Amino acid sequence: MSRSVAIDGPAGAGKSTIAKLVAKELGFIYVDTGAMYRAMALYLLRKGIDRNDTDGIESACELADISLDYVDGQQIVLLMGENVNGYIRTEEVGNMASASSVNPKVREKLVSLQQKLASEKDVVMDGRDIGTVVLPDSRCKIYLTASTAVRAKRRYDELVAKGADADLAQIEADIAERDERDMTREHSPLRRAEDAVLIDSSDMTIEEVKDRILEEAGKKL
Ligand code: C5P
Repeated sequence: MSRSVAIDGPAGAGKSTIAKLVAKELGFIYVDTGAMYRAMALYLLRKGIDRNDTDGIESACELADISLDYVDGQQIVLLMGENVNGYIRTEEVGNMASASSVNPKVREKLVSLQQKLASEKDVVMDGRDIGTVVLPDSRCKIYLTASTAVRAKRRYDELVAKGADADLAQIEADIAERDERDMTREHSPLRRAEDAVLIDSSDMTIEEVKDRILEEAGKKL
């Protein structure tokens, strides 16, 4: 049976940075499920569908062909066969992803893809509902969080490093809004699975968080 590390937590907690490192160390495949919701959001934005148009989202999402590929160990998200990695990291796409991911049809489609991947390969998978819905039987579950201020500052630094325009107050407001929506939505809300280990990374270095998770994986897998 394949093994998994399930990492959930709010936006900007450092999930993807850490998950990538943990995957490399364990020799597992890293699956960034947020990127899949972002690819779906990009599809909807390109089709000009409004974030409040439930019917439009439901019929469009059936047509969206999303898949993952790995090149030199890096995850590539394919939308209708096109590599969209370069288009999905904007705030616009992130906000649309948060809005459209409340839709159960969108979730159903992406969750089954994620479960299929995890059944075929050893994975470190990060998202919002991995420990609760996607891989409820995973033996190693982590809930990674950090304060809103720290998370906003990390996103801000990331954007500035890429040379993008960034407004810290706006990012903090967006993060708070996204958390609220992710945690209170009806389907698969973000919450810590009962058997998930809680790690607050506000005052921890990346190395410390990675080591903490590897210690957990060593014990449980
Ligand atoms: O993690 P990331 O910021 O890339 O995720 C974008 C959005 O996708 C999140 O705000 C969340 O609403 C949604 N998402 C989700 N379930 C997941 C991963 C992401 O609902 N497993």
